[in-house]
Amino acid sequence: MSDAEPSTPAQPSTASWRRVSVAVDAPQHSGLTGPLDYLGPQDLAPGTLVQVGLGRRDTLGIVWDDPPSGEAAGDALPEDQLRPVGAALDALPPLSASWRRLLDFAAAYYQRSVGELALAVLPPQLRELDAAQLQARLKKLDKAEAAAARAADQAPPERPALTEQQSAALAAVQALAAQASPPPALLWGLTGSGKTEIYLRAAEDALAQGRQVLVLVPEINLTPQLEARFAARFAGHSIVSLHSGLTPAQRLRHWLSAHLGRAQLVLGTRLAVFASLPRLGLLVVDEEHDPSYKQQDGARYSARDLAVYRGHLERIPVLLGSATPSLETWQHALAGRYRRIDLTERIGGGELPTVRLFDMNRLERKKGVTTALSVPLLDALRKRLARGEQSLVFLNRRGYAPVLHCDQCNWKSDCPHCSAHQVFHREDRTLRCHHCGVSQRVPRACPSCGNPDIAPLGRGTERLEEQLAEALPGARIARIDADTTRLKGSLEAQLGAVHDGEVDVLVGTQMVAKGHDFRRITLVAAVNPDGALFSNDFRAPERLFSLLMQVGGRAGRDAAQASRSELWVQTWYPDHALFQALQKHDYEAFAGSQLAERMSAGLPPFAHLALVRAEGRTVEAAREFLEAAQAQAQELPLAMGLLIYPPVPMAVARVANVERFQMLIEAGHRGQLQRFLRDWLPTLHGLRKRHKGVLRWAVDIDPLVI
Ligand code: ADP
Ligand code: ZN
Ligand code: ZN
Repeated sequence: MSDAEPSTPAQPSTASWRRVSVAVDAPQHSGLTGPLDYLGPQDLAPGTLVQVGLGRRDTLGIVWDDPPSGEAAGDALPEDQLRPVGAALDALPPLSASWRRLLDFAAAYYQRSVGELALAVLPPQLRELDAAQLQARLKKLDKAEAAAARAADQAPPERPALTEQQSAALAAVQALAAQASPPPALLWGLTGSGKTEIYLRAAEDALAQGRQVLVLVPEINLTPQLEARFAARFAGHSIVSLHSGLTPAQRLRHWLSAHLGRAQLVLGTRLAVFASLPRLGLLVVDEEHDPSYKQQDGARYSARDLAVYRGHLERIPVLLGSATPSLETWQHALAGRYRRIDLTERIGGGELPTVRLFDMNRLERKKGVTTALSVPLLDALRKRLARGEQSLVFLNRRGYAPVLHCDQCNWKSDCPHCSAHQVFHREDRTLRCHHCGVSQRVPRACPSCGNPDIAPLGRGTERLEEQLAEALPGARIARIDADTTRLKGSLEAQLGAVHDGEVDVLVGTQMVAKGHDFRRITLVAAVNPDGALFSNDFRAPERLFSLLMQVGGRAGRDAAQASRSELWVQTWYPDHALFQALQKHDYEAFAGSQLAERMSAGLPPFAHLALVRAEGRTVEAAREFLEAAQAQAQELPLAMGLLIYPPVPMAVARVANVERFQMLIEAGHRGQLQRFLRDWLPTLHGLRKRHKGVLRWAVDIDPLVI
């Protein structure tokens, strides 16, 4: 296909061809960061997908924009050495200029090559199809859509009359939409305050103007729920989802439908922020604070932040919805950069659960015994049982116990390959490492001293489930965590059982906190949330607060029961500011205290961070690479005024026998950090070659976890 010789008569002469830029999947470390030069026909439009030769293989590329005149000179190859482009997939309209600007921005900001990123966010199947196969796919899509359009019933959907607060909120959104360049809006409202209804109404407006709507949700599990709600409201409209749970064929079909402008509504997880949408008119980011919006490998982008940038590029409203906004977003709202729209009441007047801070210090202490299930908590659970109501007991640690322990010799079930304990799973009597996955049978006796009496220390959801079953005979107890939901469809089945009232007490990790609407739950108990108060990770309190607000929001969604619903927090630190704010459901107070701390500590959102991580076969290899990188940084004039911290081991320093180090860079200004990284990171590719023991390194801009 990339054959340079015009051998067949059908092929036009390349004599009049010109230099074109093509973005190809060349990773950053190959040193090819920008699009590459090829020869192409005069009229080859930017955004067109073309086959090109890259090294010895043929690959899909995207015709990119010409560099500003003059810039192509320098080290560019002379035209007679350029390879001609191959066949264009011209059955597809080109990817738009604003899509290309989004990719340019994301690649530059997250320090990736634009081609690598652009090709990675296209549906994988697109790269495998030739022009004829693509034509066939498009035909099929036409047929399917025609059939769907015939089947759709056009009955006008029912929609509730908006509450006064909602009307005001919608009016505010509409006022933004009328602006030439609307600022992003933070829709701040409790769970159940009617935010989704505002998304639906704003979407209606955008659709009425012939525009497309993109709605992002944090998790795949939540797309079907939201899709059902949108489908009910927008019967007869074309709605597609985009997430990693689709088959490659589905993903291509949905992507094409969006790209061709046929899908009117696109619902998706973080990768959908890159969907090609020629008539995008509204962007919604639901639960904008959720950590899942940050990609954790490759280009570590934040879909929330990119959504805001995309809204700015396309001059369309972006709605960020949350009950507990990220502190970054909250600070933007305080500073007036984002427009804040509040929904302070729950629909139907449902009250928030009463928060009971149960002081663990009041319990009688016995050596070696920690009772997660205090007597008062058990009483509260029994009351619910007697009334036929449901309870949720929340513990963010799966497995039976985090570690097995021998009290004769102090042996602990450490993972042989990681700096972490192996977790005791009682169900299948294994010790499993949650970091590298290694698993082994539980030993009969202490492997170190032979003591047959080794015991679990601490508690995970499995043990909690067992203890609840002992304490509440006859109660129907179910557990939802990563272990019970491994099989496809099992989460849905288990949630269904809860909804159908087949469960009295549900035990779960944070998995149960998100989005599920458990109307019959009137008691939510967090039995051991204290760890986050003293974490090395400065965002841990923020995550805990939002998680507890969110699990609390599970209780009392049914207004009839709301008055007696409770969020029970068992803590050794009931006076902690976080719990005090939680008790009053006062996000504003919590955010205020956190922001004050962040400001005095010079942390985000008042500083901008980048983290360089290195993995090596040995501690020395990883550390020395980062030390050398630091030394190189100090030579750069742009490093002036930045804080470059010495390399330190990561929180779990060794995983699967790989040693992991990280180095933090802190800047007062985003632009300053960006300019420095652009100067510095390319030098690390060279440095790596001299540090043979380094397996890989990566940079994380705006890291969520440090
Ligand atoms: P949120 O997205 O903030 O959690 P929702 O939009 O899901 O809130 O609203 C909570 C519940 O109230 C939903 O069942 C929704 O259908 C219903 N609801 C929303 N707005 C209204 C309204 N104006 N009148 C009646 N019910 C409403
Ligand atoms: Zn021992
Ligand atoms: Zn391990």
